[in-house]
Amino acid sequence: MEVLLLSANFPELEEEKELLRHSSFTFLVDGISRACSHQLVRHRPASYSQQSQRYVAMKNFPYVEPETVRGVKVEVDGREMEFKDLMELIGKFYEGLVEKGVPKEDARFVLPNACTTRIVFTMNGEELVHFLRLRTCSRAQWEIREMAVKILRILREKFPGLFDRVGPNCYYLGYCTEGKKSCGRPEEVRRFFSSLK
Ligand SMILES: Cc1cc2nc3c(=O)[nH]c(=O)nc-3n(C[C@H](O)[C@H](O)[C@H](O)COP(=O)(O)OP(=O)(O)OC[C@H]3O[C@@H](n4cnc5c(N)ncnc54)[C@H](O)[C@@H]3O)c2cc1C
Repeated sequence: MEVLLLSANFPELEEEKELLRHSSFTFLVDGISRACSHQLVRHRPASYSQQSQRYVAMKNFPYVEPETVRGVKVEVDGREMEFKDLMELIGKFYEGLVEKGVPKEDARFVLPNACTTRIVFTMNGEELVHFLRLRTCSRAQWEIREMAVKILRILREKFPGLFDRVGPNCYYLGYCTEGKKSCGRPEEVRRFFSSLK
């Protein structure tokens, strides 16, 4: 996964809340799964441009393999398969469809959530902080959390001071908002985010 800050614009305002509300940040994220981008685009006050699967050929499509499935063998119709075998099979089937003249916009129906994508998004600072509070939390799914932590690292490096207090709610607010679903490790999480660079 690659995360790049493409641009950041700030108005000349003194108050931090106003400054964030009227600022704008554009990021490029490449190599995340469609499962991850699907979660990202649920954040509404933002603009998105995503690589289309309608026109891009997905021959030997790149994909994200979660650590938990690596090396796990599953028997399917008498054949022992790993995740990578299934990806290969899907890729071949996809290519077969395209070769037979099926439009890419229809052939892509067989592509999995694991397929990687490239997305550009723009958020104002207020929404970015909201996004980071939710998605750096241990409750967030690992891939979007990894992405959110990378974004936060970039922001802290480029704009010292402005994002120091930002992190999951246990760090940002000083208490956990997840109730029974809390990870139960607020001190550890706070330590991580107070030293994140
Ligand atoms: C840990 C976790 C688990 C999740 N699990 C699921 C799940 O199982 N199923 C599922 O469907 N989703 C799930 N989601 C996604 C979640 O439901 C939201 O879609 C996502 O968090 C984005 O919505 P949001 O309200 O946080 O804020 P955003 O869309 O980022 O918006 C920010 C804020 O702007 C305001 N706002 C935005 N749009 C409007 C509007 N139209 N009207 C009024 N105010 C608005 C609200 O105050 C909102 O809180 C999950 C999210 C997380 C973090």
